[in-house]
Amino acid sequence: MIQAIRGAKDILPDSAASWQFLYDVCKKASEQYGYSELRTPIFEKTEVFSRGVGEETDIVGKEMYTFTDRGGESVTLRPEATAALVRAVIQNSLVQEGSVSRLWYFGPFFRYERPQKGRLRQFHQYGAECLNSPNPEADVETLLLAKRIINGVGIDSYKLLINSLGNGESRAAYRAALVDYLRARESSLSGESVRRLETNPLRVLDSKDAKDIEILAEAPDILKYLDEDSRSRFDFVINSLEKLGLQYEIDKRLVRGLDYYSHTVFEFRSAGLGSQDSFGGGGRYDGLFEQLGGKPTPAVGFAFGLERILLILEALSATPAGAPSPDAVVVCDDAYFAFGELVAEKLRGGGYRVVSDLRRRSFKAQMRDANRMGARFAVIIGEDEAAKGGFTLKDMLNGGGEQRFVSLKDDPKLEA
Ligand code: AMP
Repeated sequence: MIQAIRGAKDILPDSAASWQFLYDVCKKASEQYGYSELRTPIFEKTEVFSRGVGEETDIVGKEMYTFTDRGGESVTLRPEATAALVRAVIQNSLVQEGSVSRLWYFGPFFRYERPQKGRLRQFHQYGAECLNSPNPEADVETLLLAKRIINGVGIDSYKLLINSLGNGESRAAYRAALVDYLRARESSLSGESVRRLETNPLRVLDSKDAKDIEILAEAPDILKYLDEDSRSRFDFVINSLEKLGLQYEIDKRLVRGLDYYSHTVFEFRSAGLGSQDSFGGGGRYDGLFEQLGGKPTPAVGFAFGLERILLILEALSATPAGAPSPDAVVVCDDAYFAFGELVAEKLRGGGYRVVSDLRRRSFKAQMRDANRMGARFAVIIGEDEAAKGGFTLKDMLNGGGEQRFVSLKDDPKLEA
């Protein structure tokens, strides 16, 4: 038997309703804040991500599905949305001078990671990006939108962690101080952290290694390196969250993996998820547009991992029900198939869910199916009904007692 690719999951009919529910909540909330949907292609030229996300990140360095297409071009299945979205915004001039653009997306992403609970190779994200406001007001708005979605899907218990990376200069100064501190303790660091010290030192702060964590406890404090402007932006965000009643925790070690962040960074965590406990995150990325060849455009955004949100909902037993049962099953003598479909079409036209037998089975087998599918009504069609231009409506409730003739002439209703 051919199996799906490891870490790529089928969305089976039972969970399709949950996905539709997530989409609906995300769409409604996004529209309430003035966001419009943008769908970019599943694949891009590789440089969108190598330039946009950063060569030294795990995503670009280790996790991309990159291949050369038949024309010799290096293409990559999108591992994240922001760089691709920025490419699309530049290409289609979606940001007008002096005005803010708000965009959201929902779709599949691909990373070659070691699959485990909550970590897949094809996973889905919803995200929102607020483009062309340099001000921390935009950071606050995106956090409000994120909260509305989290609450909208039914999650009440979670943590918002927040930090500031400052601007380019303050971040560089901090980076230098962190490197000095870690270099002096290099012999005690894990191999992975020694490697990161060379390539992406801020990522050492993400280490899960116990010894690293001990060393990091005394590491320089990023917030002490913020310049006045960066500090006052961060204070603005924090104060606004207080006034708006959004709970948060400052986490000075939160840096997030990607190169493009500056100033505010944040992450949403849920205790129920185990080791992969982050179900979303984001931050400000004022330099990304220029990195991808656009005009300077300050921006802030976030993404949720939708499989992880579904895991949280499953733990709460709060996933929506699967596809609804049919309102009626057509139980039809083979000889009157076309007439049976005429009836079914008329009812479907009236908005009902109506299913027919396609296997030329006995009347009895068809009735059994109607019961099995949980249909409220059987729509019975034989010689008599066809001659009279209608159907016998049988109420399957209470052992299936009631039945009456319904003519197609009137607007037929499925009512007991
Ligand atoms: P990131 O783009 O890495 O900031 O990820 C944003 C969110 O997407 C994370 O918080 C996760 O919830 C989710 N996510 C990232 N990578 C994966 C993956 N491999 N499998 C499932 N969810 C993921």
